[in-house]
Order: sequence, then structure tokens, then C-alpha cells
Amino acid sequence: MSRTYNFSAGPAALPEPVLRRARDEMLEWGKARASVMEVSHRGKDFIALAQKAEGDLRTLMGIPQNYKVLFLQGGATQHFAQIPMNFARRDQGVDYVVTGHWSEKAAKEAKPLAQVRIAASGAESKFTAIPPRAQWQLDADAAYLHYTPNETIHGVEFHDIPDAGGAPLIADMSSNILSRPVDVSKFGVIYAGAQKNIGASGLVVMIVREDMLARCPKDIPKIFNYAEHAANESMLNTPNTFGWYLAGLVFEWLLEQGGVAAIAQRNLAKADLLYGYIDNSGFYKNPVEKSARSWMNVPFTLPREELDAAFLKEAESAGLMALKGHRAVGGMRASLYNAMPLEGVQTLVDFMKDFATRNS
Ligand code: PMP
Repeated sequence: MSRTYNFSAGPAALPEPVLRRARDEMLEWGKARASVMEVSHRGKDFIALAQKAEGDLRTLMGIPQNYKVLFLQGGATQHFAQIPMNFARRDQGVDYVVTGHWSEKAAKEAKPLAQVRIAASGAESKFTAIPPRAQWQLDADAAYLHYTPNETIHGVEFHDIPDAGGAPLIADMSSNILSRPVDVSKFGVIYAGAQKNIGASGLVVMIVREDMLARCPKDIPKIFNYAEHAANESMLNTPNTFGWYLAGLVFEWLLEQGGVAAIAQRNLAKADLLYGYIDNSGFYKNPVEKSARSWMNVPFTLPREELDAAFLKEAESAGLMALKGHRAVGGMRASLYNAMPLEGVQTLVDFMKDFATRNS
């Protein structure tokens, strides 16, 4: 058995040095003489780990002092509901920009908890484009504007931060956090499930401006209240300690790579290589408007659906794993998160060329 190039959309490939280190430390972590999974989250060793992980993330993303960083649970999906619960009143308007599956789901989950307005939707283009900012209908009194900077299934990504008008901007960065530099000060809240660019599923990282926390209502259960989580350093209850540890290892690895600016150059090179080949192949197609193409998730189709099964089977034999597209879009999808090396994308392109030649 040998490890393959893993193009999974998530849970996704992790940097191999991180996995090796986690393996080496599995039985005895630091001075604990036990696994990191076996020690108290309130002990000084774990607290030091937790603080180091937060500090490294602050360095990587340039997070300003007036933002809290929370290490939470529940997956991004739980926060689709918890966000309106904390940052809006039931009778208050909240704006959602819908650019694909995940932003649509976030808007649906908010419906029982606030007055959801769809400020813009890419549905007409079948989510292959981002509606131009001039067409967005923002409510001046909205409690916030929610959007999804990268749509993991449709492969649609914002390449700039939209102007939210006056409302605080809330971003589900689950599938592109840490892939390129972002100006955190433009956001009220950033949140991300960990299972793509941060680590293992079950952990959610949230970066929240302090004034947003003042909105959290006192009459919701504490476990759902972000201000309570912040006041308790994300240890209101037992956190996902192993997930936090793994995230810390990934942050250290990213710093060793030269940080987010350096990884962004690599991500752009990987995306350019794959899109460049697809567009020139005369065989494969990516449906997304060029200005909105994702660096992280590249959906593509073959000229005839009946070739899909053979493509996947042969790709697996060539050591290229998890290329099947999401059922909502069909075809293939290659996810190129931070841990995917350029050689992996080159190997994929070489395979695609060979497959196209044999099946044209
Ligand atoms: N948002 C985005 C952008 C995602 O890609 C995903 C999962 N792939 C989710 C939310 C949902 O995450 P979870 O399954 O952790 O709730």
C-alpha cells in the first residue's frame, strides 16, 4: 500500500509531515507521557498547546487584536443555525448571497431564526457565476450579510471581498480559509469547518469581532452562545482536543511553508495548471465563468457521461483518488487544498491527457 494523491473535497488530504508527526506523538505527546487525547484540556500542557495554535493562526492570518478566535464544534452546518441565533433577532432582517449549495443551505438553516432575505442569487446561471455586485439588493438595516467565499461543490470563488454596505460581513470560509491572504478587518465573523485546510472534521474555527459578541442574546442556552464560548476561552465544555492539536500542527506546517502568501502562490500555480489544461484540451470542460473559478475545487466534465466510470477507475489505478464530482453537479471534481502539492496536479493533468488521447 502507498499513499495516493487525494483530491477529496473534504475531509481532505492533510500535509504528510503533519500526519507523520501526529503518528510519532500518538502514544507520548510532549512531556505528558500520554497521548494528547488522554490529557485534561484544563491542564497546563494542553492550555499551552491551545494558546500556541491560536497565536500561530493569528500570525498566519494577521488577525487584529479586537477579534476573538474560537475553537468550536458542530461542523459549519451547526453554525449556519447558531449564527442567526447569536447575531440577529427573530424579527430582524439578515441578507444572504447565494452562490451555490452551501450558501443556499446556510440561508435555509437561518430561516426559522431571522427574517432571511436573498440579496443576490447565482441560481439563474446554475451557480456558474457570481451575480455582479451592482445587482445585489442589500437591506440597509440587515443584521449582517452572509456569503460563502468559496462554494466547494460548484467551484465558484470570490476573488475579492465584497462591499457589504453598512452591515457586518459574515463569511463561511470552510473551503478556502488559509489558502490566500485575506484582510480580516473587513469581516464581522469568519468561520470554517476544519476538514479541508485546517485539519480534522469536528472542529470549527471562528474569528469574531468583539463588538459582534455584544449582540449574543442572554436568553439562549449557554452552549449556543458565542460570547460564553469566548469568555471561557473555547473551554465552556470539553473541546475537540485532538482536532485542536492537529490544527496546531497544520498551522506550524503552514508557517514553515512561508505562510499564507507563499501557499497562495502555490495554490494559484496549481489552479492555473489544471484550468489551463482543461480549457485547451478540447475534451474536458469546466462550466464556471473564468473570473469566478475556484482555486480550491475544480469541477470538470468529460465529453460523454459514459466515460466517467472508466475515468475514475483508471485514475484510481494511477494513484489519483476521490475525483468523483458531487451528485448535484456530476462529472469530476479535483480539490486542490493547501496540502495538495503541484506534483499531484501535474500527475493528474498527465493522466487526463493520456485518457483524452485514448478516448477521443
Ligand atoms: N460550508 C462549506 C463551504 C462546506 O464546504 C461544507 C462541507 N463540505 C460545509 C459548510 C458543511 O460542513 P460540515 O459538514 O462540517 O457541517
